[in-house]
Amino acid sequence: MPWKLRCLAYLLFAVFIALLPAQGQVRPTPNGAHTRPRVIVFGVNGAEWDILRPLLVRGEMPNLARVIERGVSGKMRTISAPNCPKIYSIFETSTPPEENGITGFIVHGTTANTGMLRSEPLWSLLSNSRVTVGMANVPATFPVKPVNGYMISGMLTRGKNCEDGLLCSPKLSEVQGGDAVYPPTMVPELEAKVGDFLIDCARMPSAKDLLGHEVAVVYEWLERVSATREQQRKLFDYLLTDHPTDFTFLVQSCEDRVGHWLYPIQPYNVGYDRKLNTIQVNAFPDQYRALDKVLGTILKHVNENTTLLIISDHGIKPLREKEPHDAHRDHAGTTPIIAKHDFEDGDDVPGVFVAMGPGIKKGVRIMGLPMSVFDIAPTILYIYGITPPEQMKGRILTEIFGSSDETASGTLVR
Ligand SMILES: [Zn+2]
Repeated sequence: MPWKLRCLAYLLFAVFIALLPAQGQVRPTPNGAHTRPRVIVFGVNGAEWDILRPLLVRGEMPNLARVIERGVSGKMRTISAPNCPKIYSIFETSTPPEENGITGFIVHGTTANTGMLRSEPLWSLLSNSRVTVGMANVPATFPVKPVNGYMISGMLTRGKNCEDGLLCSPKLSEVQGGDAVYPPTMVPELEAKVGDFLIDCARMPSAKDLLGHEVAVVYEWLERVSATREQQRKLFDYLLTDHPTDFTFLVQSCEDRVGHWLYPIQPYNVGYDRKLNTIQVNAFPDQYRALDKVLGTILKHVNENTTLLIISDHGIKPLREKEPHDAHRDHAGTTPIIAKHDFEDGDDVPGVFVAMGPGIKKGVRIMGLPMSVFDIAPTILYIYGITPPEQMKGRILTEIFGSSDETASGTLVR
């Protein structure tokens, strides 16, 4: 059955399911406990090991360091010319863009949206298996779809002054052209408890906006980024506290955007502009220092039965050659960018993979690129005891799981 019909069928059964006592998927965890698996995925757009590692060495990301120490980490292989909607759709379907329908920010002249998805996504598969699902700010999830829980859209949400939905930052109250929250009854609750938060990170300023006002524009924009992240942190904390779900997928997008035009580059790098690139050389590393605080909030909700995955769709690196001015029209518009991720060879910009939880090995770093963005959905389904559907191209990352002997100590992370 096409997944959209299955979605409809799911809705028809929703009331029936709601009347049943809560049970869901229960199977023994590797340490022998019979508990329902709980998985939190924290997606960080464009998280880049080159920037993370020095901060980890200096002890400036204590929360991430703790998760790495108690779990498995490594690079994550992405695909050619990676960008957020493309890869998040792979995270959810484990099928290539040409099969799942989301080939980029713009698909056949229209901004990527959930109506274009042709492969059944993870949130639908889990919902149909009675796993409760909560999602917030995941790229390309607008308009939201019904799930067995809640969904709050992210990047590519349409709204006031952003009718095309391209990399702007509508407030919850400014959303247009579809629902940003499922169930819609959750909107007044979120407005009351979290506030009228910004759905996504701000669009990057254009070269014209910057000309002659470089310092003011950089600082104003970074302030807006900090405000957005704080709202997201508050939203995540509220959702994890008041709406706990078996599977939770939370995403931040500001890091990638800061990296595009404020990566700490040197005068020998392509596109270096002394006027702009000396204003705030810490702007990009600061995003990761701030990210670590958001991770700290998430860790408050992680116990010994929780699997935590921290993933990025790709990394981001300084430009290596002069780019035509409009090469990044769909992502960066007219911004003078100095770093990018859509390299033709995706292996130039691997993403981040960190996993910690019951049954997962501790303190193991995986070398090379054996783990891929296609493997996320099959691995999550495996944790819930669900067989990945045939169309999924990825594999279950069996190497991250260890024997019960290796993981018996099961330290509680706080
Ligand atoms: Zn980007």
